[in-house]
Amino acid sequence: MKILLVEDEKKVAKFIQQGLEEEKFAVTVAHDGEQGLKQALVGNFDLIILDILLPQKDGITVLKELRGKKFNIPVIMLTAKSATEDKVEGLDSGADDYLTKPFAFAELLARVRSLLRRGAKEKSTILKVADLHLDIVSHKAKRGDRMIELTGKEYALLEYFMRNVNRTLTRTIISEHIWNYNFDTGTNVIDVYINHLRSKIDDGFEKKLISTVRGVGYVMKDE
Ligand code: CA
Repeated sequence: MKILLVEDEKKVAKFIQQGLEEEKFAVTVAHDGEQGLKQALVGNFDLIILDILLPQKDGITVLKELRGKKFNIPVIMLTAKSATEDKVEGLDSGADDYLTKPFAFAELLARVRSLLRRGAKEKSTILKVADLHLDIVSHKAKRGDRMIELTGKEYALLEYFMRNVNRTLTRTIISEHIWNYNFDTGTNVIDVYINHLRSKIDDGFEKKLISTVRGVGYVMKDE
């Protein structure tokens, strides 16, 4: 999952970015409102964490412009302590949630997960494709009765495939979502990771869930 963080205080931004990356999110940081808005419009993010007090353009203006352009991506606003008016204005402008600084990272993470779940219209924390189950909280995967151990990147890849079932994912899209940048077309990093993942979830099973779309990328199929 791809998150845009718009926060001008570098220390705070770094702290949030690190925490989210440890939880396998791909994080892009913008340090002012102008950049944040630009990124938000082109970056194909799953969620935005938006500070209110920002240089160039404040968070509420950024949010209003996004909503004005029909960008319905979930937004969590960060407000300074006790700025109740900011909260009200943020929510009125289309924020989905807000958090008052200073906050515990665990609290932010809980809000992020809850919004992403809501966005995906899931009530459960388990993603299911055929007989493959993935718990997005514990990061445990199971195919049939077999538990599958995943590395961090494999988990991120698998979650991305399962959220985009039956959709062909190009190498470019995969690299942007999972690694947050494009690999040179000459490298086979993505293929290596996907082959590891495939052998973990498909070896020994008659039905193969991930297949190659030649010249394009990969697809996970549930039928
Ligand atoms: Ca700020």
